[in-house]
Amino acid sequence: MAKRVLLCLAHMSGKEIEFINQAFADNWVVPLGPNVDGFEKDLANYLGATDCPADRCSGFKRENDELFSPLDPHVAALSSGTAAVHLALAACGVGPGNDVMVQSFTFCASSHPVTYLGATPVFVDSEPDTWNMDPALLDMAIADRVDSTGRKPKAIVVVHLYGMPAKLEQLARVAAKWDIPIVEDAAEAFGSEYRCRRCGTFGRYGVLSFNGNKMITTSGGGALVCPDTEKQKEIMFLATQARENYPYYQHEEIGYNYRMSNICAGIGRGQMFVLDEHVAHHRHVHRLYAELFEGMEGISLLDNPSPEFDSNFWLCNILISPDLKVKGEEKAYAVKGDSPVGGVAAVTKATTQLRSECEPNANVEALRLALDAEGIESRPLWKPMHLQPVYAGKPAYVNGTSESLFRRGLCLPAGPWVTDDDVRRIAEIIKSSII
Ligand SMILES: *Cc1c(COP(=O)(O)O)cnc(C)c1O
Repeated sequence: MAKRVLLCLAHMSGKEIEFINQAFADNWVVPLGPNVDGFEKDLANYLGATDCPADRCSGFKRENDELFSPLDPHVAALSSGTAAVHLALAACGVGPGNDVMVQSFTFCASSHPVTYLGATPVFVDSEPDTWNMDPALLDMAIADRVDSTGRKPKAIVVVHLYGMPAKLEQLARVAAKWDIPIVEDAAEAFGSEYRCRRCGTFGRYGVLSFNGNKMITTSGGGALVCPDTEKQKEIMFLATQARENYPYYQHEEIGYNYRMSNICAGIGRGQMFVLDEHVAHHRHVHRLYAELFEGMEGISLLDNPSPEFDSNFWLCNILISPDLKVKGEEKAYAVKGDSPVGGVAAVTKATTQLRSECEPNANVEALRLALDAEGIESRPLWKPMHLQPVYAGKPAYVNGTSESLFRRGLCLPAGPWVTDDDVRRIAEIIKSSII
């Protein structure tokens, strides 16, 4: 059979190995060094760029920029995106007994660090335009938590899911009203822009991930974007076991071992050469899907809701109408779990129970199986955190949006290895699977 088409897989520029070789030549095989410094500079330059075309910017209200962090990013390279979320929350002072407002519709790395810190995640549902945190619901949820606990939540974790920027202005207004910092989870949104400004630079902290399936990779890694040198220094201090400035190891705070290795940073520096190409490719693939699904009854593709939003289209997502009949949907869930999510490297726990109370509609699963049979990887959308057994009983403010999206949605391949022919074939398989 032909090659398997994967959702998103790393693709090298070829320069990565030169930076790695240099690290070996100079004996910088440690979690600091010239590649770490260089990668941090590259990231800050990229995120701080303001060179977007005037015809796109002119319509946006620049006068509201004071709602956001000043555009002067300082970056700390870390061992993972999860570590970045963890450190951002720690630096916001999150600890036992605190509430943290978290977008429910996300990958678990947005919310698990809240639990690492002994705090309570309070889940907030999404709005249907961007699929991200609903600003009005956030405001209501904070008011209700303040009312019932007598304490203000310590932070708000906003996610740009699948690369689509959240409604940042509205969310920032709510955050400003309550004076609560935003941690922007831009792990999936490297290269995305909101009002011509790059995601990850809006909140007090911005999270990036360089896992193998993200927009660029360091094989595994992440970064935290900080608004000034002082906060960047604090993050680096926490990321290196919080060592005080003594000639011996003196500890006055709990720290973490979260710095990025100089070898991984070398991969990151090499990846910066293909970043623009990757983002352009993801957007190109999205446009092609949009053309092919145009007029296809019962299938709709997530798109930028207005010119303010410029997604990197990390993954391309379709919603499948519950009315749509797909071949084999009657027995879709009778098939034994062949391919647990998480890809080749994932370690999943063996389970005898392949079904849960909330799962994608049978027509979605049937379509996934049809694509899989043709060697194409697709995947249901993230299952909302408020529906996850591990978070049963945690407070959640829900409007039904993320659950409905989860039941109807499917992620399609979009990475640098996906060709135009692959996209046409995927659309063709979907079309021919519909009865
Ligand atoms: C990938 C991801 C992260 C960070 O993941 P790491 O694998 O730890 O780098 C955080 N949030 C979201 C939404 C993600 O998709």
